[in-house]
Amino acid sequence: MRAEGIGTARRILCVFPRYTSSFGTFEYAYPLTDGVQAFMPPQGLLLIAAYLPENWPVRFIDENIRPATKEDFEWAEAVFVSGMHIQRQQMNDICRRAHGFDLAVAIGGPSVSACPDYYPSFDYLHVGELGDATNDLIARLARDPSRPEHQVVLTTSDRIPMTEFPIPAYELAEVKKYFLGSIQYSSGCPYQCEFCDIPGLYGRNPRLKTPQQIVAELDKLRECGVTGSIYFVDDNFIGNRKAALDLLPHLIEWQKRTGYAMRLACEATLNIAKRPEILEKMREAFFVTVFCGIETPDPDALKAMHKDHNMMVPILEGINTINSYGMEVVSGIIMGLDTDKPETGDALLQFVEQSQIPLLTINLLQALPKTPLWDRLEREGRLVNDDDGRDSNVEFLLPYDQVVESWRKCMEVSYEPERLFARYQYQCDYTYARRIKVPVTPEQKSWTNIKRGLIMLRNIFWKVGVLGDYRKVFWKFALGRLRRGDIEGLIGPVLVAHHLIMFARAASGGQQNASNYSIRLREASVPAE
Ligand code: SF4
Repeated sequence: MRAEGIGTARRILCVFPRYTSSFGTFEYAYPLTDGVQAFMPPQGLLLIAAYLPENWPVRFIDENIRPATKEDFEWAEAVFVSGMHIQRQQMNDICRRAHGFDLAVAIGGPSVSACPDYYPSFDYLHVGELGDATNDLIARLARDPSRPEHQVVLTTSDRIPMTEFPIPAYELAEVKKYFLGSIQYSSGCPYQCEFCDIPGLYGRNPRLKTPQQIVAELDKLRECGVTGSIYFVDDNFIGNRKAALDLLPHLIEWQKRTGYAMRLACEATLNIAKRPEILEKMREAFFVTVFCGIETPDPDALKAMHKDHNMMVPILEGINTINSYGMEVVSGIIMGLDTDKPETGDALLQFVEQSQIPLLTINLLQALPKTPLWDRLEREGRLVNDDDGRDSNVEFLLPYDQVVESWRKCMEVSYEPERLFARYQYQCDYTYARRIKVPVTPEQKSWTNIKRGLIMLRNIFWKVGVLGDYRKVFWKFALGRLRRGDIEGLIGPVLVAHHLIMFARAASGGQQNASNYSIRLREASVPAE
């Protein structure tokens, strides 16, 4: 569904801000690819772009790919911006630039919805999800696109059901320049982990699209040129287990119809390991990766953060079960918890070895506004100003320097090339070997795809195999893959491993943030051109 066309058509410039460099954006992998410049197409802004009245011209710029230009601003009658807390500085900067052209600027998305006061300069604040506030904003701009005298705050009280969401305007994005495609089936999560703002922002009763919408979106993503992998950005893919089970047969059918055109990935709680009926269908639907917020292997810490559901099966057993269905586990890890002890770092390193998880996003605890953690720390007087040059806004119970040092050591050791490639080797031998065997698709056989693969191989062989300082470890892994004729099994892990190794080196050398949310290094370091 789209908004009704009301009054005059307006030209809307949608600008997505740059990301501050982080573990999860893979930018060190981009130079090894055939031109990837950004992580994933942003769902929210592309959804709004698709919802605008049909006769309103829309231009979409992702500043991770290229900055909005003078010509873009001169073309527009109003500017829309959306993003997360980590993009706060960049969003305020877009607003400043748009005001230079005297344009009204509206901001929506998770950051402004949680913290409207972060954005004093914007003309319109769109708080909450797609709904009556969106219609109000469109009506106001249709009547008069000029800047209002005072900031206008529009809050959604009546949300549009996800079953009525239009397909995000993927056609406006340069999808081939993204590392992954993205799609969303549900929103919200039934759990209430202390540090997480998802239940507060999107509710505990997951809202859903229909399987038919997802199939139509997959078709559109494919038409727009997405190849390779698609990530379900749902907060928790099994937040509603019945809904996941309803969707999976449609995904399996779609994969069969398209010759298994995409590898799928999602985020889900670790208790998915208790659901073999879901795991089996995910295997059939060619899910290859599941991101699990494991957070910590320490049961006391999980209890304290209200993440007991991670202990419904022993953690290592849960990971092993997921792997046995051909799915690699990616794990979120948090350091600096109140339950951390001086030996926590060593216990974490032991967990990394035992779990054989190659990719763990190890972050320092950060308190997000509108979370139970924030409220507790505020009561305890343990929130620290972000601007104090620290990597976290939490006053840890252990000395700050000790926590940061322990984090550095964990990063350094976990991402030593030998250790990392050994974990990838395990994944090849154990996990990837358990995936269904899929046919070679027409897309894979096409000259465009072969050329893409050759460019990536050339970049990998030259930049890692010849110039890289870990080339010996690389060749040991690469020759094993090449002997099996497993080119995809070579390219995928090496792209990610290279990012992890380079990022971890920068991080342990103090050149990267220790928290995804820290704004200490506030300048985005992702190349924009
Ligand atoms: S399970 Fe994940 S999404 Fe749900 S509340 Fe916990 S951290 Fe947030």
